[in-house]
Amino acid sequence: MNVLYAVSEIFPMIKTGGLADVAGALPSALTETGVSIKILVPGYPQVLEKMGKTSDPLFICDISDPLFPGRTRLLEGKLPDGSSNPPDVWVVENSSLFERDGGPYNDIYGHDWHDNAIRFGAFSRAAAILSTADSPAGWIPSILHLNDWQTGLAAAYLHYLPSDSKARTVLTIHNIAYTGIFDRYWLGPLNLPPESFSMYGVEFFGSISFLKAGIFFSNAITTVSPTHAWEIQTPEGGHGLHGLLATRRNDLTGILNGADYKTWNPAEDPFLEQHYGPRNLTRKEDNKTALRKETGLSEDHPGPLFGMVSRLNRDKGTDLIIDGLPAILEEGQLVVLGSGDPEMELSFRKKAEKYPVRIAARTGYDETLAHRIIAGSDFFLMPSRMEPCGLTQMYAMRYGTLPIVRKVGGLADSLENIPEDQDGSGKTPNAGTGIVFEDPSPAALSHAVKRAGSLYRNQRSMNSARKRAMSKDFSWTQSALRYRDLYETLLHKKH
Ligand code: ADP
Repeated sequence: MNVLYAVSEIFPMIKTGGLADVAGALPSALTETGVSIKILVPGYPQVLEKMGKTSDPLFICDISDPLFPGRTRLLEGKLPDGSSNPPDVWVVENSSLFERDGGPYNDIYGHDWHDNAIRFGAFSRAAAILSTADSPAGWIPSILHLNDWQTGLAAAYLHYLPSDSKARTVLTIHNIAYTGIFDRYWLGPLNLPPESFSMYGVEFFGSISFLKAGIFFSNAITTVSPTHAWEIQTPEGGHGLHGLLATRRNDLTGILNGADYKTWNPAEDPFLEQHYGPRNLTRKEDNKTALRKETGLSEDHPGPLFGMVSRLNRDKGTDLIIDGLPAILEEGQLVVLGSGDPEMELSFRKKAEKYPVRIAARTGYDETLAHRIIAGSDFFLMPSRMEPCGLTQMYAMRYGTLPIVRKVGGLADSLENIPEDQDGSGKTPNAGTGIVFEDPSPAALSHAVKRAGSLYRNQRSMNSARKRAMSKDFSWTQSALRYRDLYETLLHKKH
């Protein structure tokens, strides 16, 4: 079975969040289940540079279409994931669309690229052109797997292409909060037929939505956890798409993401002071000491170290951490790495200035520090209001760092609550892998932090909880098998 996996970011070439982690790991896991896969990515400078370093890009073909400004080529290379059998990467190279300084979606000032409609419209168009029997590349996929709004329009383009033989489409929703909305003016420039601008097409509240188009035209829709598959069919979680998703509920499944233990393994992680595993947890302490030293926190504080690595915004609930600081400081110390909402960045920096040896805050993106925080902290904070799956809680578990999470989306599906100790001794029943709370409020977070403090003071219960968390297996194999089953079901369904 040939699968074309179209995605707008991929680790280790270019990453803004968990989508890149998924794209960097799921295709390899699918390959191991016998699927033949090519990953289609836009030719950002970072991607072209990393391809060039690993192997000479193999010229494949031109893709011609009126939608592309200038010449567009498809280049083939390998994903530089350090493995002996890396998956193939197909890069859509178009210098005027993708070769710019800045991020995949924003310019260097953080503003959306003014022509994102055309950039991701063209990328989606390429995915569709490569998914029919007339593909110029010669390798014909039977499944086109799309990811998030950036590729959603591909399902619409494929629908309108005249070919008799087309791939079946799967759209995975990683983050429904980004619906890819553009003014209806873009209908012409995007070369969409006028009749597509309807409720039964790409139209969404008077504009064009790439994600809505993907949901409407794809044969199957998945999201990244079973709980979230239910949440997005509700008005609170559906971002306006719940009605449409509910009508497609028979084609909608939730498949929990996996963790890539090649990159996230405390026994081999190159960024750590000391490697460790469940049998030598004392070495985890060396990472805590090194992290405190690196971030300027006092090294003799007896309490737990709370860590956070996250985009900073309301969905992630990072404001609850700011409001819950008194409880955190009462119990221990806090180290934060995040980027996003400028006001939240400033708040964390100000708090760190006020309490320099108790709070460390780093803003920006730092892969090395992310690993060190996940390894060196005792508890990992994820008070998300919305969390389709979340990966960092899975990484934290593998590092014996107990997640403190809100019961939502993939957090609800991946964590078992450590029962609350009733007498305050910290002695807890032998169950649970993290601290789970329900209410998105500073009071509920503060209560969870206090529970963490009490657990921490009982080293025996703390260590057994750590070991339980470390033994959880979220590897990609199970998820990959579920995707493969879904592909097979689609291929056997009557068109
Ligand atoms: P999301 O995709 O919603 O951002 P996930 O938990 O699924 O959240 O994945 C986040 C990924 O991004 C993890 O690999 C995490 O370590 C990483 N990450 C988030 N913020 C930063 C940051 N400021 N610096 C480094 N890595 C980060």
